Amino acid sequence: MLLVRGTRSLIYLSSKQQIINISSSSCKVALTTSSTSFISTFNNNQNNNNKYSQLSYYSSTKMSKPGVTEAAVKQDPRDTIFAKIVEGSIPCKKVYEDDDCLAFDDISPQAPVHVLLIPKHPIGGINDATEEHATVLGKLMTKVPKIAKLKDIDHSGYRLVVNEGIHGQQSVRWLHIHILGGRQLNWPPC
Ligand code: 5GP
Repeated sequence: MLLVRGTRSLIYLSSKQQIINISSSSCKVALTTSSTSFISTFNNNQNNNNKYSQLSYYSSTKMSKPGVTEAAVKQDPRDTIFAKIVEGSIPCKKVYEDDDCLAFDDISPQAPVHVLLIPKHPIGGINDATEEHATVLGKLMTKVPKIAKLKDIDHSGYRLVVNEGIHGQQSVRWLHIHILGGRQLNWPPC
């Protein structure tokens, strides 16, 4: 079942009937597949520069995220969408860039501020990090406060998330740090 209410809503469904991207001014969505139920409310805060869609998943069986597949976690990072963003062949809303890293707005924000901070060097995930990556990973972490300040969440606070593999629901096999803020985040994050 698919129910959409509201205006300017745009929903893309994959072949497995999962919501993979949404933009709307105000809408409610309920989607039931054979294994999973979703009930979602979306709000775009017009007073905020960031278009904000809050998506709540209520799953009857298991929670899954589009793109989280065995194949995806085995992908060569150089074949991922983030490789194309780094080389500039796919556009992004850039927040910060230097020789070692790039930060850009997530295409499907889960909070008013949702930035992805990535190394320019291809590292598949935190599982692939070795001593040789220590410097670049250290540099990445030191850029977080700068990005938080650019996004005006340095005082209110924020959360860093690094998803790894299937259980971590990593969908893009290029190491990235999610920087989430601009609203009260919940705990536990499951
Ligand atoms: P992961 O699921 O691997 O932890 O996070 C991948 C993130 O990349 C997701 O939050 C997803 O919304 C974001 N993403 C996927 N494709 C694109 C894209 O083409 N552009 C941007 N800006 N973000 C993307």
